Amino acid sequence: MHAEPRTATRDTERAAQLWHWIGGRAVPGESNRFGDVFDPSTGERTRLVPLGGTAEVDAAVRAARAAFPSWSRTPPLIRARVLFRFRELAEARATDLTRLITSEHGKILSDAHGELARGMEVVEFACGIPQLLKGEITEQVGRGIDAWSVRQPLGVVAGITPFNFPVMVPMWMWPVALACGNTFVLKPSERDPSPSLEVARLLAEAGCPDGVFNVVNGSRAAVDALLQHPDVAAVSFVGSTPVAESVHRTGTASGKRVQALGGAKNHLVVMPDADLDLTTEALLGSAYGSAGERCMAISVAVAVGDVAGPLVERLAPRVRALRIGRGTDPAVEMGPLVTREHLDRVRGYIDLGTSEGATLVVDGRGIHVPGAPDGFYLGGCLFDGVRAEMRIYREEIFGPVLAVVRVRTLDEALALVDAHPYGNGTAIFTRSGAAAREFTTRVNCGMVGINVPIPVPMAFHSFGGWKRSLFGDHAMHGPEGVRFYTRLKTVTARWPESPEGAEFVMPSSRSSSSVSSDSGRPAGRTDPATP
Ligand code: NAD
Repeated sequence: MHAEPRTATRDTERAAQLWHWIGGRAVPGESNRFGDVFDPSTGERTRLVPLGGTAEVDAAVRAARAAFPSWSRTPPLIRARVLFRFRELAEARATDLTRLITSEHGKILSDAHGELARGMEVVEFACGIPQLLKGEITEQVGRGIDAWSVRQPLGVVAGITPFNFPVMVPMWMWPVALACGNTFVLKPSERDPSPSLEVARLLAEAGCPDGVFNVVNGSRAAVDALLQHPDVAAVSFVGSTPVAESVHRTGTASGKRVQALGGAKNHLVVMPDADLDLTTEALLGSAYGSAGERCMAISVAVAVGDVAGPLVERLAPRVRALRIGRGTDPAVEMGPLVTREHLDRVRGYIDLGTSEGATLVVDGRGIHVPGAPDGFYLGGCLFDGVRAEMRIYREEIFGPVLAVVRVRTLDEALALVDAHPYGNGTAIFTRSGAAAREFTTRVNCGMVGINVPIPVPMAFHSFGGWKRSLFGDHAMHGPEGVRFYTRLKTVTARWPESPEGAEFVMPSSRSSSSVSSDSGRPAGRTDPATP
């Protein structure tokens, strides 16, 4: 999906040139390579993003490493206060931030507001870090011996993020990482980098010390440099599955802790007893919201029994009537796709679906948005009669395309969901508690909704899929995030009042009481309880 970088002739470019954020200030970087940033609603190139590489990553990691000793020793309460102040500043600047999201991503403003709100919930969660970092203590693990476990930060950690949530996905990472005492290098998507630079500025204004939060713009070269850098302790990645898998493989091979979230193909199972009006509305929002460019978007409706006919009958006119246009227009329900390249790719899947034999019930290819002939628009598309062997079913399209697959039973629906290589989110719409329970218990997916089409966990739970939607052992934010960004240290302590002889036997709880007399040691001798 990535355009070739090119060398900008800076004086002749009209598009505004962006920067990196390293060591608490905006820096132009050393490379003379730039990527284009577009306003998807007009197709106009609006900004040039510098494509950093080894030099910029090295400078950012050095700044982060220098900031780590002081930041990690800063009391969690004081670190949380920086996040509290950031929250206030970001709330005050919410309108500007959401306009920035829409100007580079294309999503409608109300959806950009929703993205910011969900991201800010992670900031709010991370403000509770003094409570979250409280360790565990056991008094008297042996006679006169206490033990406690604490979680300490890792060091410099990196985040690599996709285009589709330029504020929220980085916020799945940095608030928790920073609150835990790490310092951070963010490599945002080169498609919509500006919101990350604004976040960096706001964090500095909130009192975040220089070097604690850095942004290196770029594409593959910057990612490779982060993965190879010996001073990067951990990498959080969100993006497409092939890149997620490769980031996980490369990062772990160089000894880093890696969590890499990948792509998705989310199924919504419609049972014959489902409320069809409710289900139709749920499908519309979850399949076509944000032009289907959400990792939790529903892209497959699994119609069980005889529900398919009435469902498609209800859906088709609603999909045809979707209001499509500029994201800044409050009457619009669906904005453009992110780039022309991505638009062409999604259109290619519509051609493919018809050639594979699926029925194209609604064809969004003829869309025309007045006054924006070069915008990256595609109308909602609806396929019926999709089968499991088709590529439009197997592959992630990441556009406003919904595929209806017909099955006979809940068992068949479950088998379909389980056989799919992705396992991010799924949902069941039904009035039957028994069917819902059967589904949630048996389904192999990380996030499951019951009459909830996009079951994105709140900030105080954790977000993550299964199968080829997540590589690594940790989901993001919530308790899993705190675990990912910290490592466990357990201390065992005693304060003997008189010197004791050498101990050659593995200490155990038995050796400190009755067994101790067998080994000839003085009664009351204190030993750890650990084997
Ligand atoms: P992408 O994989 O193209 O890019 C993600 C990041 O990786 C970007 O920062 C990009 O610069 C970098 N990158 C791209 N190609 C690379 C390469 N070959 N080597 C190293 N780095 C590379 O993803 P995208 O198009 O920006 O975002 C859409 C994808 O992200 C979809 O597949 C979507 O499902 C997925 N996504 C997943 C989740 C989730 O939680 N599972 C959330 C959001 C998006």
